[in-house]
This record gives sequence, C-alpha cells and structure tokens, in this order.
Amino acid sequence: MASQVFDIVVVGGGVTGTGAALDAATRGLSVALIEARDYAAGASSKSSKLIHGGLRYLEMLDFGLVREALRERRLLLTELAPHLVRPVPFLWPLTHRWWERPYVAAGLLLYDTMGGRRAVPRARHFTKTRALRLAPALDPGAFVGAVQFYDAQEDDARMVTFLARTAAAHEAALATNIRMDGLAAAGGRVTGVRARDLLDGTDLLIRGRHVVLAIGAWARRTRIAIETRDRGMAAAGQAAALMAAELGWDQARAGREVAQYGQAVAAELAAEGEPDDQLAYAARVKAPDPAPFYPA
Ligand SMILES: Cc1cc2nc3c(=O)[nH]c(=O)nc-3n(C[C@H](O)[C@H](O)[C@H](O)COP(=O)(O)OP(=O)(O)OC[C@H]3O[C@@H](n4cnc5c(N)ncnc54)[C@H](O)[C@@H]3O)c2cc1C
Repeated sequence: MASQVFDIVVVGGGVTGTGAALDAATRGLSVALIEARDYAAGASSKSSKLIHGGLRYLEMLDFGLVREALRERRLLLTELAPHLVRPVPFLWPLTHRWWERPYVAAGLLLYDTMGGRRAVPRARHFTKTRALRLAPALDPGAFVGAVQFYDAQEDDARMVTFLARTAAAHEAALATNIRMDGLAAAGGRVTGVRARDLLDGTDLLIRGRHVVLAIGAWARRTRIAIETRDRGMAAAGQAAALMAAELGWDQARAGREVAQYGQAVAAELAAEGEPDDQLAYAARVKAPDPAPFYPA
C-alpha cells in the first residue's frame, strides 16, 4: 500500500467505505481502503438491519424517494444479495374502526404496487382474532384488527464483508488495523493519508489523488484535526459582506453574525483541547446557537 499512488484512498471500512471502494474499483480506478478496527466495527454492524422501501415517506407524498427505495430493496432481495437480505413481516395493529383500515390499505396497496414484481409477499388483512393468533402477546383491548405488510431485513455486518471481498476481487487493496492519523498535504492539496499499522506499530504514508473519509461518527473529530486553525475566521468578514444582500442582512447584522461565528470557532478550539468527548461537548455548547439563515 505504501509503495504506490492510488486514485482513491478510502478511510473507514463500514458500509459507506466498502461501498465507495467497490464502486471506484469497478470503474477501473486504483483503490486503497484502510480500517482502524475491523470491517463493520462501527454503526454498520449495529443497525436495525432494515432494508425498507420507505413506507413512512408515502405519508409525506415523497413518491420519488419511495420508488427509489423500493427499487433498491428489490435489487438487494433478488439480484445483489439474496443470501443476505430476506423479507420480514410487520404486523400493524389498527386502533380505529371504519376509517383506519381503508386508509392503511390504500397506502399499502400503493406501496406493494410501486414495489413492482413481487420481491416480498403482498399486504394481508386480519381480524382481531386472527391477529391475536399470530401475536398472542398483544393486548386484546388495545386494537380492533391488524394489517400485515412486508419489508426486508439484512445481515448488515456480513453485507459489509461481502462488499469488501468484492472490492478486493476487483483489485482494491484493503487492510484492517490501520488507523488514519491525519491527512498528508503538499502545495495546499491533499496527497494522501498518514496512518499507523496498529499490529506492528509502524507509521505509513498512503498516497492518493483523492481521499474519501467514510469514518461515520468519527468524522467530527477528524474534521477538527484537519481543518485550518482559524476555521476561515480571517475571511469571515468578506464572506458575510458577499452574502449580506442575498440573506437580507444589513451591516449591523453581518457584524453580529461574524462575531457569533468567532465565538463558535473559539468554543470549537477550546473543545479540541479537551481530553475526552464529554468535556469537549461541554466546551462546545458554550457557543451561542447559530442564528437561522432565514428567520421566520
Ligand atoms: C441504532 C441504529 C439503527 C439503524 N438502523 C438502520 C436500518 O435499519 N437501516 C439502515 O439502512 N440504516 C440504519 N442505520 C444507519 C446505518 O447503520 C448507518 O448509516 C451506516 O452503518 C453508516 O455506515 P458508515 O460506513 O458511514 O459508518 P460506520 O459503519 O460507523 O463506519 C465507520 C468506520 O470508520 C472507521 N474509522 C473511524 N476512524 C477511523 C480512522 N481514523 N482510521 C481508519 N478507520 C477509521 C471505524 O472503525 C468504522 O468501522 C441505523 C443506525 C443506528 C445507529
């Protein structure tokens, strides 16, 4: 890894990082991926494991998003990972007579229809008695009937390892127990990643034309470590003046915004110096909340 310049260096071996590595490798790019612990050691092994088609977005009338999510669900169930993704039934207890069943039925009919070719069984309607047979722990006094519908569930950690293996099969170089300690830069451009091999304690420079940080919840601390010390404070006045007309700020408001940004930067820098996340948070919340861009 240390001997070549990669097109892409990916940091983080969760679903985002391994997915990015696979995507890049199958486009013919040279790819390195490093992971500090093991594949899926972060959120990618701790999710609810649902591959859902976005039923709740139907209520928000976001049909485009539902259609896209259902298409991806079908692809995962039937072509991409049928060995890791399976249909999972949900029982939806109804609590109102008359209107709720037709309302839910209409939504689920649309959901099933938009899902296209049968990737999961269609929704079914149950009387209260039948629902109690399926789920005897339900409180009989708390519902009047039920509808069963299907979404899908995956083995999230194994999905990540399959993504990693497939990326490796497309000649990506992947390694675990390698922790990024910082970015390497020259001439104002990022040129790779400074890292440590946690097994033998050696330091590495992994060179790349582009670096993808896919480090999930760890991104905040890393961002702090790689940002310039002044966080753009030197240019804040000019940026505020440039944006003032667009945002409807007068000179006094622009001044207040810059001052407030300065307080936030000071709090961030104080947080960065704290030894743990709790103290860092306490230091950070001392900054005032940012003013909304477009006040109501
Ligand atoms: C409770 C819960 C339930 C969820 N349920 C669902 C669900 O049902 N369906 C769904 O689709 N999504 C769900 N999600 C969201 C999903 O889990 C995340 O969006 C996804 O796992 C994020 O993946 P990631 O690769 O971005 O991050 P992560 O999986 O956290 O991966 C980041 C990786 O970066 C590594 N790393 C960090 N710092 C460094 C460093 N310096 N050097 C090298 N490596 C580093 C970490 O070790 C880690 O392995 C859920 C999330 C939670 C928390």
